[in-house]
Amino acid sequence: MSSLFHSQSDYERLALLDQKHVWHPFTQMKQYNEESPLIIERGEGIRLFDLEGRSYFDGFSSVWLNVHGHNVPELNEALAAQMQRVAHSTLLGMANVPSIELAAQLAAISPAGLTKVFYSDSGATGVEIALKMAYQYWYNNGMPGKKSFITMKDAYHGDTIGAVSVGAIPLYHEVFRPLLFPSHTVPYPNGYRHPDGPDGAMAETLSALESLLQEHGAGIAALIVEPVVQGASGIIVMPEGCLSAIAGLCRRYDVLLIADEVATGFGRTGRMFACGHENVAPDLMIVGKGLTGGYLPVAATLATERVYNAFYADYEEQKTFFHGHSFTGNPLGCAVALESLRLMRERSIVESVDAKGHFVAQRLSPLLDRPHIGDIRYKGLMLGIELVANKRTKEPYHWNERIGVLVARRARDLGMLTRPLGNVIVFIPPLVSTDSELADMADILSEAVIDVTERGWRP
Ligand SMILES: *Cc1c(COP(=O)(O)O)cnc(C)c1O
Repeated sequence: MSSLFHSQSDYERLALLDQKHVWHPFTQMKQYNEESPLIIERGEGIRLFDLEGRSYFDGFSSVWLNVHGHNVPELNEALAAQMQRVAHSTLLGMANVPSIELAAQLAAISPAGLTKVFYSDSGATGVEIALKMAYQYWYNNGMPGKKSFITMKDAYHGDTIGAVSVGAIPLYHEVFRPLLFPSHTVPYPNGYRHPDGPDGAMAETLSALESLLQEHGAGIAALIVEPVVQGASGIIVMPEGCLSAIAGLCRRYDVLLIADEVATGFGRTGRMFACGHENVAPDLMIVGKGLTGGYLPVAATLATERVYNAFYADYEEQKTFFHGHSFTGNPLGCAVALESLRLMRERSIVESVDAKGHFVAQRLSPLLDRPHIGDIRYKGLMLGIELVANKRTKEPYHWNERIGVLVARRARDLGMLTRPLGNVIVFIPPLVSTDSELADMADILSEAVIDVTERGWRP
């Protein structure tokens, strides 16, 4: 394959340039530069290959994006076909073909009522749009006082300043606090960490939310939530019924519900959207990551007619939504997204996810007897393994031990890539992974965890 044409000196040249010029996201560069970088050269199916031709399972879907695997002929062809027509033209005051087709399809597969599609280019920008829409919705309706937001403890909604303002992961967000607008926070129900388990966690969330709404509802524009699975906080799965109860409270207190489906959308949790588990119909919904099958940066914020109509007026009324991005509605990305959705239908991908998730959990279940496995939780193909220093007391590993990083490092040596969230090992494989591939990846995961937590493996 093409990697044979890369010599050792190619690797060294690129590694040097990487170190010299690339500033990597969410990465302490001093630490990164102490090791030889992993440089990916190509992908095939659910595997990635580095410059030296070593193969790795993509055990985290290249950060939770990938649906159909890499280098997929159908997606490549859709991209090439669109490229022959036009790579980009703007949606500012005009339209292009693939973005229209895609908007209609998104409206058709989304929870009831979400008929309007506003495009952007990342999850974070999609969140910004939802926040601004929610705020201006009330403003345009003559209620500018409804301007604050409710978020959930340990929420992650992206890294732009608005998204960080409704973010609640202290490690990422605290330093920026002086730049942010304040938000209200209610607990996300974490059954493993709550003294009264999932039921207690859910009761606590709902009662905190209800008191907050009673006291401050008149000043609140919207609640934003990662539905059913809170991802970046460590793959926390909501108890059943919690999302619909949250939605009910928002309705009752006249607060918009924003569902951030950036991670959970497009089949990841076993439904097209996680809201579908409980038939929840949000007022605004953000999608990204898997929208293009993980190929290209396209995101979208979907809105109901009710939200849209608050902006629909004569120009002089000044109710326009003044927001947009250079690449809003990019035709290449939209064409690939359309083909990705077609493949999902043709291959019944969403329908296969529940069974695959159960299969993986079953394969990993012997781990539950090991001394440092606190919890294994999952919904569909979104799975987290929480490692603990002490299983009985659930005492976490000290962050300084970087236990998750060590396990991911060991998994890489064993042939699988993933990236931890603190002490939680993440397993989010491409949705097309076969049972035999899932079994191989789960076995690598088990071995890596045991090597690091019991056998003292260190790089
Ligand atoms: C990844 C993620 C985002 C941010 O998306 P980007 O494309 O990285 O900006 C927002 N919300 C959730 C729930 C996510 O998982």
